Amino acid sequence: MQSFQPPERTLMGPGPSDVHPRVLAAMARPTIGHLDPAFQTFMEELKAGLRAAFKTENALTIPVSAPGSAGMETCFANLVEPGDTVVICQNGVFGGRMRENVTRAGGNAVMVEAEWGRSIDLDATEAALKDHPEAKILAFVHAETSTGVRADAAALCALARQHDCLSIMDTVTGLGGIPVDVDGWGADAVYSGTQKCLSAPPGLSPVTFSDRAVAVIKARAHPVQSWFLDLTLVMDYWDGAGGRSYHHTAPVNALYGLHEALLMLHEEGLDAAWARHAHMHTALKAGLEAMGLSLLVDAAHRLPQLNAVSVPDSVDEAAIRKFVLERYDLEIGAGLGTLAGKVWRLGLMGQSARPDRVIKCLAALEDALAHQQAPISRGKAIPAAQAALPDDS
Ligand SMILES: *Cc1c(COP(=O)(O)O)cnc(C)c1O
Repeated sequence: MQSFQPPERTLMGPGPSDVHPRVLAAMARPTIGHLDPAFQTFMEELKAGLRAAFKTENALTIPVSAPGSAGMETCFANLVEPGDTVVICQNGVFGGRMRENVTRAGGNAVMVEAEWGRSIDLDATEAALKDHPEAKILAFVHAETSTGVRADAAALCALARQHDCLSIMDTVTGLGGIPVDVDGWGADAVYSGTQKCLSAPPGLSPVTFSDRAVAVIKARAHPVQSWFLDLTLVMDYWDGAGGRSYHHTAPVNALYGLHEALLMLHEEGLDAAWARHAHMHTALKAGLEAMGLSLLVDAAHRLPQLNAVSVPDSVDEAAIRKFVLERYDLEIGAGLGTLAGKVWRLGLMGQSARPDRVIKCLAALEDALAHQQAPISRGKAIPAAQAALPDDS
C-alpha cells in the first residue's frame, strides 16, 4: 500500500461539490471523544447552526451519522408504521426511493407522478389527498437532483396541513442553495446532505423534525424497525438535557467539517448564498445558450444549483464527460433513469457556484464539443457568461 493522493478535481456534477480548504482543515483537527465535555458544547453549537440553515426552531435538529439516503430512511422509518398511507410526489429518481422506503416500512404508497423534468401538479396532489383521506403523510422532493426541477415546497407543505397530513421533504440538494424555510412552510420532517450546497464532504445527513412529528414518533404502536435510525434512541445522545448517553460513536471529525461549513454559510449569510447560486446559474445559462445548448427544465421550475443540459443529436455524451475529466480535471454528471444519455447535469453547488468554476465549465464543454465537431457556436459562451456575472461576484 501507499498513501492515496487523489487528483485535484473541480466538482460540477450532482454532488459532491468542491470542499473549501477551511472545511478540510477543520476535519484534520485532533479527534476527541464523542462524550468529551468540550465536544458537548460543540454539539449544541452545531445544532444551532443547522437550525439557522433550516430556518427552524425545532428541538430535534441533528446530523444523522450517514449520508443523505440515511436521512431519507430516518424520516420514513420513524414516521411510517405498517398499514399507513403515504402520498408521494415523484418526478425523478428520489421520489422513487421514497416509495421503496414506504413499502419496506409496511406502508401503502400512493403515487402522484409527473414526467421527469416537469414539476409536480398541485391539483393532482390535492386530488390524491382527497381520494385518500386516510393518508398520514405527504412526501416530496424539494430539489430533484436527477432532473433539476424545483418543487413548490411552501404550497405542498400547506396542502399537507390542510389534509391533516405530516409532510416529509427531501432538501438534500436544496439546503444552502435555494430558500428553505422549515418553520415558515410548516414542514414536519426534513432531511438534507452535506455534500451538495453545504460543500462539506459526503457522509452526514442533517434532519429536522417538528414537535408534531416528534409526538407522532413517540406515540408509535410498533418500535421503529431500524435500531440505528430509531430517533427515540438517537435523541438520548443528541439531547443534552437528559445527560448524553452512548448510542453510537459519533463521526467526530466529519462533524467538525460540517460545523465549519455551517459557519461559512453563516458568515456569508443565507440570502447572499442563495443569491450567489442564482447569479452563477444565470451566467452559466447565458454561456450555454450562447453556445447553442439548451436546458431541459422550463425557467419557472429550474434549480439554479443543478442544470440539466440537453445533449445535442450526434454527440457522444459519455465521451464529453471523459474528455473534460481527463483534460480539465472537471467532473460533470450524466443523466439518470429515463434521462440517461439525454442530458448532462452541471452542478453549481456551494463552493462550486463561483465565477471561475462557471467559466472553466463553459470553456471545457466548448472544447470537448468542438473536438466532436458538434454543431455549436464557438467563442461566444465565455463573453456571454462574463456579461451576465454580477459586478460584485
Ligand atoms: C444526493 C441526494 C440524495 C442522497 O444523498 P446521499 O448522500 O447520496 O445518500 C437524496 N435525495 C436527493 C434529492 C439527492 O440529491
